[in-house]
Amino acid sequence: MSAFVRVIIDRSIRRELDYSVPEAMIGKVVVGSRVRVPFRDKTLLATVVATLEESPAEGIKPVAALLGEKPVLSATLIELARWMANYYCCPVETVMRSLLPQVIRKAEVGWKKQLFVSPARSATADEIEKLRKRAPRQAELLQAIAQLTGPIAAADLLRQTSLDNGTLRALVKRGFAELREQAVARDPHGTEEFIADADLSMNEEQTAALKLIEHALANPETHPPILLHGVTGSGKTEVYLQAIRATLARGKTAIVLVPEISLTPQTVERFKSRFASQPDMVAVLHSHLSEGERHDEWHKLHAGRARIVIGARSAVFAPLENVGLIVVDEEHETSYKQEEAPRYHARDVAVVRGKMEKCVVLLGTATPSLESYHNAERGKYVLSQLTQRVDQCQMPLIRIVDLRMERRKEKAAAILSEKLRTAIADRLEKKEQTILFLNRRGFSTSLLCSSCGKARECPNCSVALTFHRHDARLSCHLCGHSAAVPKRCPECREDALIYAGFGTEKVEANVAAIFPKAVVRRMDADSMTRKDAYREALHAFRSGKIDILVGTQMIAKGLHFPNVTLVGIINADLALHLPDFRAGERTFQLLTQVAGRAGRGEAPGEVFVQTYTPFSPSIQFARHHDFAGYFQQELEFRERCDFPPFRHVVLITVRSEHETRASFSAETLARRLREALPEEFQLGAPAPAPLEKLQGHYRFHILLRGEAIVRLSRLIRETLDKLPFPDDVAVAVDVDPYQLL
Ligand code: ADP
Ligand code: ZN
Repeated sequence: MSAFVRVIIDRSIRRELDYSVPEAMIGKVVVGSRVRVPFRDKTLLATVVATLEESPAEGIKPVAALLGEKPVLSATLIELARWMANYYCCPVETVMRSLLPQVIRKAEVGWKKQLFVSPARSATADEIEKLRKRAPRQAELLQAIAQLTGPIAAADLLRQTSLDNGTLRALVKRGFAELREQAVARDPHGTEEFIADADLSMNEEQTAALKLIEHALANPETHPPILLHGVTGSGKTEVYLQAIRATLARGKTAIVLVPEISLTPQTVERFKSRFASQPDMVAVLHSHLSEGERHDEWHKLHAGRARIVIGARSAVFAPLENVGLIVVDEEHETSYKQEEAPRYHARDVAVVRGKMEKCVVLLGTATPSLESYHNAERGKYVLSQLTQRVDQCQMPLIRIVDLRMERRKEKAAAILSEKLRTAIADRLEKKEQTILFLNRRGFSTSLLCSSCGKARECPNCSVALTFHRHDARLSCHLCGHSAAVPKRCPECREDALIYAGFGTEKVEANVAAIFPKAVVRRMDADSMTRKDAYREALHAFRSGKIDILVGTQMIAKGLHFPNVTLVGIINADLALHLPDFRAGERTFQLLTQVAGRAGRGEAPGEVFVQTYTPFSPSIQFARHHDFAGYFQQELEFRERCDFPPFRHVVLITVRSEHETRASFSAETLARRLREALPEEFQLGAPAPAPLEKLQGHYRFHILLRGEAIVRLSRLIRETLDKLPFPDDVAVAVDVDPYQLL
């Protein structure tokens, strides 16, 4: 029995501490236990990471309290945390904190308790007679209770009988009924009913994919991760569902990661329904749960009652034991990358957890990331392909609209080209639906002065303010700053302000003006602020109440609308010209994904891509649905430029409210790194970030590249530890960054 434990406290002190275990807790405080420990003059929450026979530390204090009986983290998850800390150049405390939902970590919220009623002593005929006369409501309630077959929630009983609490209490006092407190789960989908549906009979390609997964399930220790590359609508989800069934049959559990944005009720329903014969089987973890719901869902998994979890990024840390399968749907999605410390990528963490748990990892997508496809090419992953859509539907026809030509025709370029307008009119005629996509919110993207040429900029960020017509104000999409629209240019005092550029709000207005009889609806972060708005809008669209849906990436992914036969991409160039080596890849993925929304039913789909750069490779390859072709040319570009997947990139951001302090600190850091790093690592000169100012902070970037990433991470950490930065300078290290602005 170990008398000492080593813990990591929830606060970042970058040191692990030893404590003794009081007699009464010996054997109960184990690796993964949550405890309270004395630290300086406080008692802090901590996680036990090791048990020790003896400790070299002096003046050891005892553990103050043990929280919960079962450890909250498995040894594997602790090992995973250590791997993340090393790989992502991040304090292990920060990683540990993100492993547990806050509600579990703080252990302040418990189960919801509810009072349940059950019959107690049965009343004699005499007593009933008396009650009828003197207290008819009690008699009525007593009759209802007598008919109960089991305990019922008091609240439900009272609602059903329209009687009040006082009546119930009186019956309890008389001994006719009993009240007992019972824990109830706050199930986020508790009010929905799921009807169990059977496995579909799969086509040849799906069968082959499932066979491969089953083979992997039989040899989990040696089998590499599987990359399931299936075109949109090829039935990947069906493959996941049957793979999970096979996993459960082996007595194991499964984790399914989906991007937050596609964690729609529709997706959850498919999983819940398939396993509906065991009601608690599927737990859901995502950011829209209440604290109570998250507590309950997490505990369902922790207790082993739920054996499947479907969730967003952080569900990769779900407290499941005996994991047999981890599915990462839409593995290319950049939202799997967390943009605050620990800056981890859930797909990559899933692969590592899979290796540690000795389980099968299945990455699915219609547009593999270059990283994953490259891994498949060089044998680190096994590739499985679904090349046909399940419904035998043709891939949509993609038409490119050259906006340069349009401009010549119509002088001022219209938001909707003539070709797109004609196509929409045609769909309205045929009662088919249209989706218009533009990855930019607001009405006008800037307010320019035509006299002095200055745009209204955000005072806190180096971006132009966007004009929103619904509240007639200017707003910053980065920091939320909001300003009134000036009458004259504040710089030169001329009455010469013009609105330039356009966002979804203007597209909506424009479409409504051109097609006054059509029902147009907009879906973006501005119009979807209410909790149920998203669900409502999707429902209205699906049931055909909306003719034209205008939206941002919110509508680009994973939705099935059989009656949509036309998709218009208003401006395909938006993402292409960002200073980001993944700009081309993102554009290709976006076009492919958006195009996948068209023609999922019987009518074939048509996609119009409006662009000023019709010959860019991302657009041309997407047009021909040629993933392999795109991949080859993009890979050559990446190799030529030493970018991922050939090199790892690390981006260090140094920021401060004071420009000179930020730049000075960045210079100093770069100099120290130059001294510390061997030749194999490339170090760029510090430079102002493309987004120079953000939320009032000036930002400088240092870009590093290398192959041995863990070693590079360590060297960066060591260099940083030796450098005292002023308090008003913050440094962030991002390993494998996705956000390069
Ligand atoms: P993906 O995830 O690849 O986009 P889905 O799994 O969502 O594709 O499948 C698209 C549609 O086809 C879904 O409605 C699904 O129920 C249906 N489907 C999938 N596999 C089959 C099959 N073998 N037979 C009939 N319908 C199928
Ligand atoms: Zn701003």
